[in-house]
Amino acid sequence: MGLRIGIDLGGTKIEAIVLDGASEAFRKRVATPRGDYEATIRAVAALVKEAGEGTVGVGIPGNLSRVTGLVKNANSTWLIGRPLKQDLERAIGREVRLENDANCFALSEATDGAGKGSAVVFGVILGTGVGGGVVAHGKLLAGPNGIAGEWGHNPLPAPTADDLPLPACYCGRFGCIETYLSGPGLSNDYRKKTGETLTPEEIVALQGDSLSRYVERLARALGSVINVLDPDVIVLGGGMSNVARLYTEVPRLWGRYVFSDHVATRLARHAHGDSSGVRGAAWLWD
Ligand SMILES: [Zn+2]
Repeated sequence: MGLRIGIDLGGTKIEAIVLDGASEAFRKRVATPRGDYEATIRAVAALVKEAGEGTVGVGIPGNLSRVTGLVKNANSTWLIGRPLKQDLERAIGREVRLENDANCFALSEATDGAGKGSAVVFGVILGTGVGGGVVAHGKLLAGPNGIAGEWGHNPLPAPTADDLPLPACYCGRFGCIETYLSGPGLSNDYRKKTGETLTPEEIVALQGDSLSRYVERLARALGSVINVLDPDVIVLGGGMSNVARLYTEVPRLWGRYVFSDHVATRLARHAHGDSSGVRGAAWLWD
């Protein structure tokens, strides 16, 4: 089995690892040259050179358009509209497999993390943004639009008075799941109710009504995923995934939104934490 290089091209850091089988042979992170596309390409190429031989997989905060081959849906906006795959391949001199970072997270957790051994895994990032990815029978589900699992920009199901007015999302829609279930979404909820601005960590520590609303909204939003996909396990990642009560309370609540007499789906915390993005990128070569 050859060496696999994984790169996680994030908004603040670029991380590289080399996997020899399932074990790590190299790891390095550098700051992302924010806003500078050419410097970003150079930084990734330098990391790959240092990592040495191996296949190259790259996770990015966005997707490649199936129509143009250019980056779309990236909150690292300086990547949008760029032929990132071709430019990286030219700079590195090897074929590069590029995937959405939430898809890399799902692939990592399905391969040797919290979803290992499960037939269908839905991986969810609850961080600055909300994303998702689907791995079925060991394979990442891409889809003809390249958006499989992009559940963060579905509307939150069955809004109640507490959910109104629907928050505006950067994507141009209103009431997206991301506007409630991202870290900033939790802060917005708290500000709306109290007029005060706190960080997500501070709001979690309060264990108050905002967190209770968060838990109930997550149950509602995941209930609709279970109805469509019926996954064996849903694995949570991102900063909000560290809230312990999600794993006991959400499965207690989601039954009312699932069209079944019994819900066998497990809700699990990630096994690889922040490393799942970069590990999943390496696993893009199977
Ligand atoms: Zn949106």
